[in-house]
Amino acid sequence: MIKIEHVSKAFGGIQAVDDVSFEVAEGSITGLIGPNGAGKSTLFNIVAGLIRPDSGRISLEGRDITGRRPHQLFHQGLVRTFQIPHEFSRMTVRENLMVVPAGQAGENLFKAWFRWGQVREQDSKVLERVDEVLDFLEISHVADELAGNLSGGQKKLLDLGRTMMTDARAVLLDEPGAGVNRTLLGKISEAIQRLNTERGYTFCLIEHDMDLISKLCDPVHVMANGALIASGPMSEIRQNEQVREAYLGG
Ligand code: ADP
Ligand code: MG
Repeated sequence: MIKIEHVSKAFGGIQAVDDVSFEVAEGSITGLIGPNGAGKSTLFNIVAGLIRPDSGRISLEGRDITGRRPHQLFHQGLVRTFQIPHEFSRMTVRENLMVVPAGQAGENLFKAWFRWGQVREQDSKVLERVDEVLDFLEISHVADELAGNLSGGQKKLLDLGRTMMTDARAVLLDEPGAGVNRTLLGKISEAIQRLNTERGYTFCLIEHDMDLISKLCDPVHVMANGALIASGPMSEIRQNEQVREAYLGG
C-alpha cells in the first residue's frame, strides 16, 4: 500500500534517513523500531508530507505521493496521528471528533478549527459517526470532558478516534504507547487490532514497547543511524545480532 524507495534526508551534517526502502503491505500492521535518533520520526514525517526528502520516492497504492502535503494525503486516505494540539485541548472530546469532518474540505486541521463552528450540529451523519467512534473506543463516558483534562492514554484513544472520523485507510502511528499506563495500553492495542481486522485499516507504527510490537506487528523494520538494518517477524528480529548491537550501542 505504501512503498518507500531509497529515501534519504540530511539535517546539516546529520544523515537522519539514509537510503531507506521498505513497503507497508495493505492490511498489515507494520512495525518500525530502532534506538532514539535512528531516524524513525523523520521517515514518518517524509511519508506524511511534512518534510521533503533529499532523494527517493514514496508511493501510495502505486501513485507517486512524494512531497504531497498532509491534506492532500488525507484525501487519498493516508493519515498521521499527532498529539492533540494545544488549541484542541479546550474543546470537548466530542467536539474534537466533530472537527475532523470540517477539515475534509481540504484544509489543514488548524484552519478546520477556525471553521469548526460551521460544522452543522444537525448533520446527523457526523453525530452518528461521533457516537459510533466514542462507543468503539469505549470513551463515551468522557465525551463531554475537555480534551485537555484526559489522561495521556485517553488522549491517544481520542487521537485514534479522530483517525476513525476520516476515511483513512492507511495510518501512521508514532509511539501510540508512549507514557500510557498498562490498562490503557491494552485498550489502545486492542483498538488498533480491531481497526485492522474489522475495518481493514493498514497501520505503520513506531513504538518502543516491544511487547506491543510483538503482539501487533508483522513485519517489523529496524532502523539505526538513519539506515534500515533488519526486517522480518519480531521472533527473528529478536535474534538479530546487528539489532542487538544497535540497541546496546545506542
Ligand atoms: P527517532 O524518531 O528515531 O528517534 P528522529 O527522526 O527524530 O529519530 O531523528 C533522527 C536524527 O535527525 C537525530 O539525530 C535528530 O537529532 C535529527 N533531527 C531530527 N529532526 C531534525 C531537525 N528538524 N533538525 C535537525 N536535526 C533533526
Ligand atoms: Mg521519534
